[in-house]
Amino acid sequence: MTENNIRIAIIGAGASGIMAAIKLLEAKTGEIIVFEKEADLGGTWRDNTYPGLICDIPSHLYRFSFAANPDWSRTFSPGSEIYSYMRRVAEGNNIENMIRYHSEVTRLQYNEGQWCLETNQGDQGRFNVVISAVGILHHPVYPDIKGLDGFEGDRFHSARWDHNVSYQGKRVGIIGTGSTAVQITSAIIDDVEKLSLFQRTPQWVLAAPNDFYSPEAKTNFRENPEEMTNAYNSLAHTLNHGFAAAVVGQNDEALAMIQDGCQQNLDQNIHDPALREKLTPDYSAGCKRLIVSEEFYSAISKQNAELVTEGISGIEAGGIRTEDGRLHELDVLVLATGFDPHRFLADAEIIGASGQSLSKAWNQGNYAYKTICVPDFPNLFFIGGPNSPIGNFSFLLTAETQFAYIKKLIELIRSGELSEVNPKPEVTNEYNDKLKKEMGGTVWASGCQSWYFDRFGNVASWPWTFARFEEELSEPNLSDFQILETQ
Ligand code: NAP
Repeated sequence: MTENNIRIAIIGAGASGIMAAIKLLEAKTGEIIVFEKEADLGGTWRDNTYPGLICDIPSHLYRFSFAANPDWSRTFSPGSEIYSYMRRVAEGNNIENMIRYHSEVTRLQYNEGQWCLETNQGDQGRFNVVISAVGILHHPVYPDIKGLDGFEGDRFHSARWDHNVSYQGKRVGIIGTGSTAVQITSAIIDDVEKLSLFQRTPQWVLAAPNDFYSPEAKTNFRENPEEMTNAYNSLAHTLNHGFAAAVVGQNDEALAMIQDGCQQNLDQNIHDPALREKLTPDYSAGCKRLIVSEEFYSAISKQNAELVTEGISGIEAGGIRTEDGRLHELDVLVLATGFDPHRFLADAEIIGASGQSLSKAWNQGNYAYKTICVPDFPNLFFIGGPNSPIGNFSFLLTAETQFAYIKKLIELIRSGELSEVNPKPEVTNEYNDKLKKEMGGTVWASGCQSWYFDRFGNVASWPWTFARFEEELSEPNLSDFQILETQ
């Protein structure tokens, strides 16, 4: 292989795919093609358009490190602003023409040092490197509830919001009490006749004000870009050394503060004792992904809101029947029932070096070497792969940390120093044994059900501090890889 003739496929034009394409283009790494299954970029920020969508990671942290934005309107940005930002950054960095839309990767086969890639559009040729940037929030989960299809009103998943349906003056039901349901409830409560929120499990909610940036503040950011850098660094430090350390058992003081903050929010803002009891979780704050909302408790306390805690026995033409026999009549039903974060590339057939499929390799649970790559699947790299720090983190920071590491591996391939980068199975197993053991000390494993768990009961996040994540991915340890040197 001669330098620069490398071909790289990126799967997904969401935040991490956009970032990887920009950085590879900038480094003139070779030919880069981004395969995107939908008609537009933006990933979860393209798919989710529900009323009230706000990112609960502060705006000046939830951005690419290389693309500061002085114009964020608020402390926490609305989803539409983040989508526009992604589009602007992609256009500004000239990566649009690298994206093939309507192209869902259906098959990858490793053959003689390259990946043969097929999409629903057919054979796309051979690639030296494939980067999965598919994210975790793009497979909506539809609840398996008897009678769901028989509902005669309007019904949709929160990630497929039907903007042709009006909810003004209607009886609206929402199933779920995750971040999505909480944001929708707060946004629509004043417009609906009645809102019934079907709660299976109560959630801890942290209140955080979402102030608008004044025109002066935006001008100041524009004229003094170092202030945006300072804000980014300081927010990253606070989140990673406060919250992220707290949830993995490394900052008990911060965890206690989060717990107290949630309890105070509940005590101070829910005045009806019966409602307060229904909203009180029986597990520690942070066990399920923490919800950030300053508005939810006031919304759910309104006259036209009802928190339904009876189990759902079925869905009928006219509404939802609960186990107490009551029919909750509805015109519109929103399924705020989340996503399957464990699917990754499950819709594609991926055949590794020895002829085994990735789905077979992962049939007892997803695993990777340091979140990045899987033995027997050489030169296939994951951004946001198994056990990445997920939850109340800035995924953009996680993705950039992972990509910087992947890029170092790609450089070795591009320079011709190596032809294949394949983690050693024994090193990967040892790493994963440790990871599982350490997971026991995290708040996620402290006694609640959540989407962090896969179907084998493993927690799919990072059990150590973010500082350790950065350190582990700072430089590839080549002795951890089976490396075929180029002939
Ligand atoms: P989620 O957190 O997975 O919540 C799903 C909700 O649906 C849960 O309350 C769950 O109850 C309920 N549910 C699922 N199946 C059910 C069934 N069969 N019957 C009754 N209830 C059922 O989903 P999400 O709120 O859409 O959030 C998805 C991800 O996006 C999370 O990581 C979330 O934090 C993130 N998100 C982030 C933001 C942000 O601001 N950055 C905004 C929205 C979403 P149980 O708790 O009992 O399982």
